[in-house]
Order: sequence, then structure tokens, then C-alpha cells
Amino acid sequence: MTTRTSDQTTPDPAADPTTDPATASVKTFESINPATGDVVGTHPVHGEADVHAAVERARATADWWAGLGFDGRQEVLTQWRGVITRRLAQLCDVVHQETGKPHGDAQLECALAIDHLAWAGSHAAKVLGRKRVSPGLLLANQAASVEYLPLGVVGVIGPWNYPVFTPMGSIAYALAAGNTVVFKPSELTPGVGTWLADSLREVVGDHDLLQVVTGYGETGAALCRAGVDKIAFTGSTATGKRVMATCAETLTPVVIEAGGKDALLVDEDADLDAAADAAAWGAFANAGQTCAGVERVYVHERVHDRFVDLLAAKARTVHAGVDVDAKIGPMTMPGQLDVVRRHVADALARGGRAVVGGNEAVGDRFVQPTVLVEVPEDSEAVTEETFGPTVTVRRVRDMDEAVELTNAGKYGLGSAIFTAKRGDDLARRLRTGMTSINSVISFAGVPTLPFGGVGDSGFGRIHGPDGLREFTFAKAVTRQRFKAPLNLTTFDRTPEQDTMVATLLLALHGRASQLPKLPRRPLETIRGRRRG
Ligand code: NDP
Repeated sequence: MTTRTSDQTTPDPAADPTTDPATASVKTFESINPATGDVVGTHPVHGEADVHAAVERARATADWWAGLGFDGRQEVLTQWRGVITRRLAQLCDVVHQETGKPHGDAQLECALAIDHLAWAGSHAAKVLGRKRVSPGLLLANQAASVEYLPLGVVGVIGPWNYPVFTPMGSIAYALAAGNTVVFKPSELTPGVGTWLADSLREVVGDHDLLQVVTGYGETGAALCRAGVDKIAFTGSTATGKRVMATCAETLTPVVIEAGGKDALLVDEDADLDAAADAAAWGAFANAGQTCAGVERVYVHERVHDRFVDLLAAKARTVHAGVDVDAKIGPMTMPGQLDVVRRHVADALARGGRAVVGGNEAVGDRFVQPTVLVEVPEDSEAVTEETFGPTVTVRRVRDMDEAVELTNAGKYGLGSAIFTAKRGDDLARRLRTGMTSINSVISFAGVPTLPFGGVGDSGFGRIHGPDGLREFTFAKAVTRQRFKAPLNLTTFDRTPEQDTMVATLLLALHGRASQLPKLPRRPLETIRGRRRG
């Protein structure tokens, strides 16, 4: 853990909402630059009472925000986007300091986040607004409509690896859908979360549209118990299970965006230079601390050796550090170094080979790119999320085997395929929420596409129309347009009218109800079964 806790006496508890008036003191913790060990900032550890108070304030603001309507909300979100964009360098600096990632990478995640904010604001009306739908024939006298209404207050719990992009995938969509938000950033990146909330305050003043509560896991757990209308959680699978268990106490619905072990498939007809380049970036960018980063590669046997050479050459051009040429920064969470070390050691102990990097690549703060080959499929380096700049490469007979091995894992977040012809077919067969063909992780930057996983990678969707609907409830309304000749919802219904319903049913569905023609089983099988 890179945070330090302390107690400070505060002179005026009433002036500081984070203060517990009973003790007139506030616990604080420090966020630390993982590359240098320097203190970046000091933040309050918000307790249960603080979190409840924040949720109450958010609830008091919810009617105002929902009442602004789609146009009013879009106006606010557009202004917020402008503030973030104009201050981009400042935000990137906080991201850089708290995560250690290079400025360019910080800018890239902020750019994508701004794009999502723009899309969510400008598409909410079309996706969520009231739509007339067909009432069907039996209730043809009704006008039917559906619209998607805000839930109220959404709690967002975020990770540290993309401290702007990842939570924005929930915050932007929840706000655009008409909810207010209480956000608990990771204990490693509280400054980024606070910066985001402060920047929105510049647009909405005293309105508690987006509040940040800072602290450790207990603060997140308090948010789960605080009576919010939904929790949008992004983080590890293990914490996701704890969040679900806590939310179950109050039947609070959840979206779980959890970890991954994404595979990249390389077909025999793929552009190998492009595949190796993308594999290197997908595996090593952000020091491998990407939920949808490439952690394993399955390569057709005809091109395997050539691909490994190209990837190894690429890996050798990338190094982790703080110098200007460093393309990747430190491991943001020191505890992750042990996980990376364990996975690499396990892979090598079981007969794997490091073509680049290896055990000695794992230092005190930085991990150098590591390419592992001939690693058994039951090694931790293949089955568990490593979350470091390491990648395993395996030779496969054909793409069928690659699909089988990809789907054998417990995670199902993203995947990628490099191929000349078979992209769509292979993508459909991969049990992952998203697939990029001839690129990696592109799906995360396309605001119109839903983002989320299956299996241990979680459930629910952020981004796109699905992401907007995730923070709403569907409201169905019927309005009787005229008195129906056949009133179905009355005790005055007569036996003759019931007969009319039966006749109508037969006319509408009678043909469909004929028994389908089932494939005939061989007579012997049937006889055999009877005898058995
Ligand atoms: P964690 O699961 O450790 O933490 C995620 C968030 O949950 C943090 O804010 C954390 O607070 C909070 N938290 C911890 N314990 C609890 C609890 N009991 N109740 C409520 N909240 C709690 O994940 P990391 O921050 O380490 O992030 C890395 C993980 O996130 C990786 O597994 C990665 O794959 C995944 N991820 C998934 C993404 C996706 O979209 N699918 C995107 C990005 C990352 P605190 O930090 O203070 O402990």
C-alpha cells in the first residue's frame, strides 16, 4: 500500500463536512507518487457518516438534475467537458503523479474519457427518451410507450489504473441519464477523483451533482450500504464479489466491471508486423495494468516463430522508467510486483522460457517487458490476471484450438484477432464481451459500443446505449385511447367474449402452435431405450 494515514485536529468541524463532530478530528491519508515515493496529496478518510451525508446531499440534488431534462443536462455536461479539456494538462499531471504513467498515456485516457462524456450527453435523449411502441392486437385500444427514467443516486467505485477513463465510463453515463453520483476513487488516486468533482463544481456551483468520498475499502463498503440506487463497480474480481455481497444486504443493484486475461489470436494469414506491434502495445502499455490488456497470445503454428521474433524485437525497444525515453512507468500498486514475480516464476518453473525479460525484469518499482513462451496452460501466468507488462505466447494447430484455449479461461472481458479473412466468424465464437479485429482494445474507445465482460470479468454494461440504460429503469405506460369492443380487464366479461378471445387466438397463433417437425430418431435407438 502506498498510502499513509494520520490524525489531524481540525479547528472548525462544522466548516468541514468530512469531520466527525463528535471527535473534532479527521483521519487523513496520503497519495504517493509510485515512481518516486513523494507525497502527492493528503485526503480525508471518509467514514460511514460522511458517506451517508454525501448520499443524502446527492439525493436532495437528484430532483433538480432530473428536472433539467435532456437538453439542460447536456448543456451542463458540455460545459464540464470544456473545463476538463481546457485544463487537460493539469489533470494529466495529477494522473501522472498518482499513477506514475507517462504524460502521453495520461492524455490518451483523458481524451477517450472526454469523448465518452460528449457521446453520453448528446445521445441520452435519443436512447432514453419516450418512445411509442405497438400495443399488439388484443389491446389495440391502448397507446403504449416506454421511456428510461433515472434511478436517483448512483455510487461509482473505481480503480487506479485508468483513474479518469474508467470511472468516467460510469459517471458520464449515469449523469447523462439523469442521476447524481457519489464517487469513491481508489485509495491510490484520490487526487484524480477530487479533481474531477471540483471541475464539475465550476459549472454547477453548490449543486451536489458529483461528490467524491475518499478513503480505503471501508469507504467503498460504506457507499454500498448507504442506500444508493445502484453501484457501478470497477476493480478486481475478488473485490467485486465483496461488493456484491455487501450490496445484497440492501438489494442494491450492481454493475461489476472486473478483471480480465485477454487473449490475442494470430491467424496464419495475419499481417504479422501489425500483430506484433499491437501485441506489444496491448501487453506492455500502462505497464500492463490494463483490464483489457493483452496477457496471452495464441499464434498459428505456421507463423508462430516469426511472430515471436517480431514481438521480442518490439519488446526490446520498450523500457519502464522515469527517463524521457521510458514508454512505461512503474507498477502503481507495489503489491502487484509480488503477483507479477510469482506468475513469471511459476511459468519458468513449469518449463516456460523467457524470450525477453523474465525474473530479473521484476524490480522494486518497475517491471521490464517480458515475453514468455512454452508456458503450460495451467500455469498462473496463463490462468490468472497478471496485471504487469508480461505476455505468454503459445503455438496452436489452428484457430479452432486458439478459440478453445481462449474460452477455457474463467475471465471473459475482451479479446483480439489478427486475421485477413476470418475476423467476424472467430469474434462470434469467442466468449468475451468485446473483440477487436486487427487492432487491440479499440472497443473501449468507441463510445457507441457497450463495454463489459462475462464470467469472472463481471456483468452489466457501461458505454453506448446499453451503458445509458444501465443507470435507468424502464418505465412502461399504457393510455386507453378508446373503449374496446372486447374489454378483457373487467369482471363483466361474458362467456361469449371469452369464446371470441379463443377464436381470435386461433386466428392469430393457431398455425404457429402446430407441432414442429422434430428430427426422427432411428427406430433402433427408440426400441433400445424402451428395452432399457
Ligand atoms: P480493487 O478491486 O482492489 O479496488 C477497486 C475499488 O474498490 C477501489 O476503489 C477500492 O478501494 C474499492 N474497494 C476495495 N474493497 C472494497 C470493499 N470491500 N467494498 C467496496 N469497495 C471496495 O481493484 P484495483 O483498484 O486494484 O484495480 C485493478 C483491478 O481493476 C484489476 O483487476 C483490473 O482488471 C480491474 N479493472 C477492470 C476494468 C473493467 O472495466 N473491467 C477496468 C479497469 C480495471 P481502495 O483502493 O481504497 O482499496
